[in-house]
Amino acid sequence: MNDNSNRDDKLDIETKVVHGGKYYDPYTGAISFPIYQSATFRHLSQDSGYDYSRQQNPTREELENTIANLENGKFGFSFSTGMAAISTVLTLFSPNQHIIVSDDLYGGTYRIFEEIYSRYGIEFSYIDTSKTYEVEKSFKKNTAAVFIETPSNPTMKVSDISAIAEIAQSQQALMIVDNTFLTPYYQRPLELGADIVVHSGTKYLGGHNDTLAGFIVVNNETLSHRLKLIQKSEGAVLAPFDSWLLLRGIKTLGVRLKKQEENALKVAKWLKGHSKINKVYYIGLPEHEAFEISRKQATGFGAMISFTVENTEIAQQVLRKVRMIIFAESLGGVESLITHPMTQTHSDIPKLIRERLGVNDRLLRLSVGIENVDDIINDLKQALE
Ligand SMILES: *Cc1c(COP(=O)(O)O)cnc(C)c1O
Repeated sequence: MNDNSNRDDKLDIETKVVHGGKYYDPYTGAISFPIYQSATFRHLSQDSGYDYSRQQNPTREELENTIANLENGKFGFSFSTGMAAISTVLTLFSPNQHIIVSDDLYGGTYRIFEEIYSRYGIEFSYIDTSKTYEVEKSFKKNTAAVFIETPSNPTMKVSDISAIAEIAQSQQALMIVDNTFLTPYYQRPLELGADIVVHSGTKYLGGHNDTLAGFIVVNNETLSHRLKLIQKSEGAVLAPFDSWLLLRGIKTLGVRLKKQEENALKVAKWLKGHSKINKVYYIGLPEHEAFEISRKQATGFGAMISFTVENTEIAQQVLRKVRMIIFAESLGGVESLITHPMTQTHSDIPKLIRERLGVNDRLLRLSVGIENVDDIINDLKQALE
């Protein structure tokens, strides 16, 4: 397919999210990019670039170009889930290589590292990557990568992307950033020196709690060839319809995130003033330890809030009593969701690590949606009574 020759590459991210990779289907002019629901393609006299959808599919390709465009990267890859994307990145490494990982991490990422990839001889160290000197100290002769999640899940620690990228580069290690929480709308790790960005597209990028998806974006051509080989060999690719759902979701990423962030700041301030709340973790509060570094490397704070309540009973009561806010896993969608990380998203993380991080039975995590903010606050208020 020909690239759109009129394309303006200097557009703001607010505009880029609306128009995607090619703006429209070059064959038909369709504004809503078509769902090419085909497993295979006729061999034409001239190579069209499409043979079989595990290798490439036009709808998926449009999405892959879109995410690359948003992250300001050259090559995008989409997968059936965020975990499939992370798993693909891990297959870049070999036995006896060592990876430094953020200790405050999505539970599924911890699980795939420890339960699966450690069996193939890859070694992981979990450290507080929000302290750059800890990262520096943790390098070993065989360190091949640093994998960070920032802001982290669920205690909202922020790691200095450019400082860590510089250290990684000096040690010939790859710098990998899970950018799920802020998305390229607010944070673009490749611009800050990272080598690989991964995403759970299930969250803010999709934005509607209706489909699973994952992404990888890189700038380096050699890396991209390897990733393409793994993607087409393993086949955990995103289906055409799901690719379309993501393309559609991304169009409103900007307006959704802005509204969610605006709501989140109000909710976080309200939570802080509540007598039954002990601690509020929201990076957009000026007193949060990561406020300054967040302002340096991102253009927004996102809409994820964690908080601890006075005791276990109150935590359980909130989960039981919320009416509009839904007690459910996941995050980033238009609906406000509340979870109990200790028993849900982070149940696979050992108790010792969990307790050090503050992931206890009193911690709740709120993904703030786009609803009317007073309705969100009033729901929390009655649930806490
Ligand atoms: C959800 C999530 C993942 C995993 O993505 P799936 O799409 O659920 O497979 C990875 N990282 C973070 C930060 C997440 O929130």
